[in-house]
Amino acid sequence: MSHHYQSILASIRTEVLPLQHDGAVANYIPELMTVPPERFGMHLRTVDGHDFAVGDSDEPFSIQSISKVFALALVVSLVGEKIFKRVGVEPSGSSFNSLVQLEYERGIPRNPLINAGAMVVCDVLIGQLKRPKQELLAFVRQLAQNKRIGFNERVAASEKEFGFRNIALANFLKSFGNIQHDVSDVLDLYFHMCSIEMSCRDLATAFLLFANHGTRPGSTDAVLTKSQTKRLNAVMQTCGFYDEAGEFSFTVGLPGKSGVGGGIVALHPHRYAVATWSPRLNAKGNSVMGMKALELLTTKLGSSIF
Ligand code: GLN
Repeated sequence: MSHHYQSILASIRTEVLPLQHDGAVANYIPELMTVPPERFGMHLRTVDGHDFAVGDSDEPFSIQSISKVFALALVVSLVGEKIFKRVGVEPSGSSFNSLVQLEYERGIPRNPLINAGAMVVCDVLIGQLKRPKQELLAFVRQLAQNKRIGFNERVAASEKEFGFRNIALANFLKSFGNIQHDVSDVLDLYFHMCSIEMSCRDLATAFLLFANHGTRPGSTDAVLTKSQTKRLNAVMQTCGFYDEAGEFSFTVGLPGKSGVGGGIVALHPHRYAVATWSPRLNAKGNSVMGMKALELLTTKLGSSIF
């Protein structure tokens, strides 16, 4: 099977290229607009360690909300599933930074992959770790097997400067008692994790953890239990694309996560993890070319998780 992947990726690239001018680069974080918009990269890595790639797959980009999955995995590895007392597991059906829903639901975010939910996860990490930013980064580097992965301080600062809505969300959570530490510390961790830069290769490598029962292929140390891994995959499946989670399940059929930097990572349990990057987004904040590329992948392979 494996040897088909490279030709499938090459034909996907040709087929998505006509979409390269569709959509718009995220502009509410000004620093993200400095990226050349006509980029496309894709990297697929199998659980048995074979790599297939096309385009700008080795170029690091801002992973943004994809980082929420790493923060969640780290928090679950530290405190287990009791995190889900403070954040739900239901799809939001709303935008990733909705304030209204949080008011209705008395400060318990719908799920850990919307902004408010990720801030609660950051709050727990601050309580658990001595140096939360550095330890989260070390966790990501370990999963991706790449020590060069780092924060982009300019992106973190830009997000802080223009993060009026996120600052509102964090204060709102605090007013409901669902943030225990300083709001500014929680936001600092949140903005930094969103600013992490990784390539499609790094992301596909890191997400193999979720395709391989919670253990990095080649390692004997489990990061997550099998049950925790299944649950995180379920959360990605139902909540990974905000109000487009249904569409991603419908057209792609894999658990995954998107970010406003234009990255998408998805995985087929026991088989592979795959990452795409293209900065132009659709109205829901998901990469236009990435969504199409992944739809084509599962169509051409004739298999999704369904
Ligand atoms: N840092 C972005 C924000 O908080 C992440 C959003 C995203 O990637 N969906 O708004």
